[in-house]
Amino acid sequence: MDLMMAARRLCRVALDFVLPPSCLGCAGPLDRPGALCPACWGDMQFLGEPCCACCGHPFVLAPDGATCAGCLARPPAFDRARAVAAYGGTMRRLILAFKHGDRLDLCRGLATLMIGADAAGLAQATLVVPVPLHDRRLLHRRYNQAAELARAIGQRAGRRVCVDLLRRTKATRSQGGLGRRGRLDNVAGAFAVARPAQAKDAHVLLIDDVMTTGATAEACARALKAAGARSVAVLTLARVVRADSP
Ligand SMILES: [Zn+2]
Ligand SMILES: [Zn+2]
Repeated sequence: MDLMMAARRLCRVALDFVLPPSCLGCAGPLDRPGALCPACWGDMQFLGEPCCACCGHPFVLAPDGATCAGCLARPPAFDRARAVAAYGGTMRRLILAFKHGDRLDLCRGLATLMIGADAAGLAQATLVVPVPLHDRRLLHRRYNQAAELARAIGQRAGRRVCVDLLRRTKATRSQGGLGRRGRLDNVAGAFAVARPAQAKDAHVLLIDDVMTTGATAEACARALKAAGARSVAVLTLARVVRADSP
């Protein structure tokens, strides 16, 4: 973090003491800090049960423990994936602000939402690990939003965090505009476990901001399992939910 950012952050903390708390989504006034106003809350499509027991894809109606057709046909390398909300509305605005708008102050509130989104995954986890950014992108963006979330979640939940357990071994092109197959090819073998001793026998909670097709989570989970991780649960802020997916 550079000096400017640290100064801006300090200003914000100072302002919080002077100004009334504001909504994380629209900056409107609130009666308590670290939350959303009713309008922003209403514009959030929260995900939860019923959903695919494996990838978390929302179901309209399904028996407990059912898996979706996609997971049945191609069981993913991760054991489960859960997200706070569908990608869109308030959640999309929050993620873009957090990712590109230097809004590190959103981290705590977003981590709280994630902790609430998968109590079972968190209960089993022994190690919290972020999806890494490539060094070049890290330079450009100055922080890895997934690492910030992983730190906050680990701290709050009392779990060990290892932000550099995974590393990117090749600079992948942006996943935008690629279909599932293209994304899988793009990230295949793109991740390596930098500290195999830590991954061995761990129940990993893998943190990212958005799950689109699951290709990145799949590549990370494969690397972690190859290094001896017992289970990999993926937890993201949002997932892209399409009517025709998975
Ligand atoms: Zn709001
Ligand atoms: Zn599924």
